[in-house]
Amino acid sequence: MPMKAPTHRDPNVTRGLAATRRAHDHARGTAAQRGYDGKWRVYSKSFLQRHPWCQCDRCKVSSTPLPAQHVDHIIAVNGPRDPLFWRESNHRAMAHACHSRKTAIHDGGFGNAPRAIVAQPGGKQVSGRYVSVHPNYLTRG
Ligand SMILES: [Zn+2]
Repeated sequence: MPMKAPTHRDPNVTRGLAATRRAHDHARGTAAQRGYDGKWRVYSKSFLQRHPWCQCDRCKVSSTPLPAQHVDHIIAVNGPRDPLFWRESNHRAMAHACHSRKTAIHDGGFGNAPRAIVAQPGGKQVSGRYVSVHPNYLTRG
């Protein structure tokens, strides 16, 4: 009777996505560590009351924009001490689906490779800050 050949799996491969996610979450810190604490929740609630509709590129031009649930940082920030963290001109209301799409594209979710690069000739990392390749986001160095 034929038997299935034994499989030898690399534990790093079989742990795959879950381990990668854990490492990613560990590296970026908790939501509170990243500045999304009670003060942010109060602010974002007030922001969303003033901007109830998604302001993503698709919804902005749509006759049926989605209701916003998140306050997005247009230019990615590096924690609450980043000067752009609290700057209202760097905020936009976004629907959960649109925010997830942006996160997937820019942060490499859903199996996409991260597209974020460093805004520095020669591709060197600038003090740990990554800047999106989107032309609208290349305003800082
Ligand atoms: Zn949207």
